[in-house]
Amino acid sequence: MIARYGSEVDVLDTRQRVQQRARLRRKTDDVVCGDRVFLEATEAAVARRADRHNQLTRRDVSNRPRTIAANIDRVWIVIAPRPEVPSFLVDRFLAGIVNLPAQPGILVNKWDRADLQRPAAFDALLENYRCLNLDLLRVSAHTGYGLDRLRTAARGHSNILVGQSGVGKSSLIQALLPREELRIGNLGHSGEGRHTTTTARWYEAEGGAWIDSPGVRDFTPEISSTAELVRGFPDLAAFAERCRFRDCTHRAEPGCAVTVAVADGGLPAHRLEAWHELLQEIGAGGRLMPGNR
Ligand code: GDP
Ligand code: ZN
Repeated sequence: MIARYGSEVDVLDTRQRVQQRARLRRKTDDVVCGDRVFLEATEAAVARRADRHNQLTRRDVSNRPRTIAANIDRVWIVIAPRPEVPSFLVDRFLAGIVNLPAQPGILVNKWDRADLQRPAAFDALLENYRCLNLDLLRVSAHTGYGLDRLRTAARGHSNILVGQSGVGKSSLIQALLPREELRIGNLGHSGEGRHTTTTARWYEAEGGAWIDSPGVRDFTPEISSTAELVRGFPDLAAFAERCRFRDCTHRAEPGCAVTVAVADGGLPAHRLEAWHELLQEIGAGGRLMPGNR
């Protein structure tokens, strides 16, 4: 099991830092956090990695896929009253997570100061996500509030925390894990500075595993068809069943139940905006293919 990676990788089971040969990196598009690997007989280098059951990938600035972590069961999107929540980021994460496939959840951190300075829009946003039938847990890394419920939901799974910087991902990991485990997830200290900001890390805990990931400002889900997109928007899809046209794009078509739902307040406008944005990105030209939904 890999805790972190780079030109060297940390192997948890043997508690070793081993080399990742350049040849292998080219061939397998790199070993990432959460990968299971086979070592060479000398145990000095990675021989090959095992197949993954899924992988969380983001796009870099030149739109190249970069895998953040592999073999993930639950993805927790961390948000907080501050910094302000970009709803498009949450919507894009949600659309991507169900298609990994993995189980999405939302962690509302910094709940210790929630009544002090919670913007009204924040409560409204939480209400929007409550309808999506996913785990939405209020927690505080500082006071420990809600962490038992989180541990219970996370038990027996590999869990990754994702979200923008400053929402408290690292603080939550620290609050969730005993000191001993934090040290193990941090094998060795060379090259520390570079790795902390660019790669994910894996921590073993009693009953489950936690992965911390670098903060992101945007996220591009790996979605390749409108059918997958529909899976990522079950709330919107429920209204879309009642649109007059089967290939309705939910823009200006007559008899569009989705735009009516947005106007009535039954569907948050940001959900439809995120849908349109992703539809365009997957190259469907803004037109759903009949039979695809
Ligand atoms: P990350 O970038 O998502 O890893 O966020 P950090 O863990 O570095 O936390 C960012 C800031 O939020 C730090 O100043 C933390 O002290 C603060 N913070 C994290 N968790 C909490 C919390 O539960 N309550 C409060 N009040 N502040 C928190
Ligand atoms: Zn429609």
